[in-house]
Amino acid sequence: MSPQINSTKPKIVIVGGGFAGLGLAKKLKDKPVEVLLLDRHNYHTFQPLLYQVATGALEAESIAFPIRRIFQRQSNFSFGLAEVSKINAEKNTIDTSIGEISYDYLVLATGAETNFFGNTQLEHFCMGMKSVPEAMNLRSMVLQSFEAALTEKDPGEKEELMTFVVVGGGPTGTELAGALAEFKNHILKKDYPKLDNCEMKVYVVESKPIVLGVMSDNAAAKAKEYLENMGVILYNGVRVKSFDGELLEINDGRKIKTRNVLWAAGVVGQFPEGIKPENIVKGNRIQTDEINRIKGYQNIFAIGDTAAIISTATPDGHPGVAQVALQQGKHLAKNLMAIINGNDTEPFKYDDKGSMATIGRNKAVADIGKAHLSGFVAWVLWCFVHIFFLVGLQNRMYVFINWVGRYFSYNGPARIIIRPFSRESMTENTKAK
Ligand SMILES: Cc1cc2nc3c(=O)[nH]c(=O)nc-3n(C[C@H](O)[C@H](O)[C@H](O)COP(=O)(O)OP(=O)(O)OC[C@H]3O[C@@H](n4cnc5c(N)ncnc54)[C@H](O)[C@@H]3O)c2cc1C
Repeated sequence: MSPQINSTKPKIVIVGGGFAGLGLAKKLKDKPVEVLLLDRHNYHTFQPLLYQVATGALEAESIAFPIRRIFQRQSNFSFGLAEVSKINAEKNTIDTSIGEISYDYLVLATGAETNFFGNTQLEHFCMGMKSVPEAMNLRSMVLQSFEAALTEKDPGEKEELMTFVVVGGGPTGTELAGALAEFKNHILKKDYPKLDNCEMKVYVVESKPIVLGVMSDNAAAKAKEYLENMGVILYNGVRVKSFDGELLEINDGRKIKTRNVLWAAGVVGQFPEGIKPENIVKGNRIQTDEINRIKGYQNIFAIGDTAAIISTATPDGHPGVAQVALQQGKHLAKNLMAIINGNDTEPFKYDDKGSMATIGRNKAVADIGKAHLSGFVAWVLWCFVHIFFLVGLQNRMYVFINWVGRYFSYNGPARIIIRPFSRESMTENTKAK
């Protein structure tokens, strides 16, 4: 049964309960509209901490929060657990896994998916990290590789099992590589005393000449220093050519024997079918005007990672970060109410509060305005900002206590294989989304 709403109030349907969708729905509280939020998951995912789930540092539940619970006190809100497949703009409806749903205003807040650049071999053998199921697959894969390495007699096979390659040296890849290096330097000896931690290798393969190239030169230089001091091997200015599950080939001819390739080399927008092709721009994002309305439509909007407001200041749209998504969601709430009430709308202006990345304990970098911070100060700031933006008081307290504990011991709570990972049995449903 689809969650149809019988109300005379304008009905706003939001697809996606990420930062953008939640930001919008919350701001519509107590407004004379009906809000229906649809998501393929019944929880919101705090993606910036997925890498900690993937490396066993945090439990999955501490970075996911049930959407219904977030809105328990919002009477004009309802939720539907549904995959949205198609937009029928001519009749103001969408096709979903729970039936056809009508809308007065439709907002696509569907985020992005991993970009394998159309290479199906890489998509099959490499592990993306855009969702909780994917992070849990990664965690199982990492732990199973060590379990298998313990009993492996063949040195070549053992080397493959203990070699981890992170493709992409942006914030996600850098944080993931740092977490794997901490695993090597502090956990391996304790959990697997029979494995020699010198045999564990962590590589980062990045097409730009530096890691963390999206941040300042200071941040990039510090990140390189931190990673190399932690034993991470950096291959810069090169691209992965192929990976067949055991051998990774780089376009400069170098080869790495490995079973574990973690793909953090970028994302592309994702959204249901039905948007006119002329609205789809670089990075598979939907071009919108300055109030996030999709060009050529009166009542369909796109916000967050999936949207691109193209202007001279933002020729490729805004960066795909949580702050943009959250701010666009909140701003659209004001504009939707202005449209409904016949008032003037206001263009979206991004308030860039800075960017940060953490490489390990006491090792983070932050660019805030003209200030470039690194080391302990940046790391503490990173911890507090992430705790602040986590959804749910319980989750915040849990993560805080966990991080304080881990500061002294490096021991995370979740090095457990709940759902064993098997590449052979991976279907499209278990792999992505
Ligand atoms: C590993 C990782 C680390 C990151 N680290 C940082 C960081 O440190 N700082 C930062 O600012 N940003 C970071 N980001 C980026 C940030 O998470 C995104 O910019 C942000 O999540 C975008 O929010 P959104 O609401 O647009 O999309 P999302 O948060 O991706 O939410 C989209 C939602 O739409 C749902 N959905 C999609 N398609 C459908 C459909 N057809 N039907 C139903 N539901 C659908 C999805 O289930 C999801 O819940 C990181 C991202 C990743 C993956």
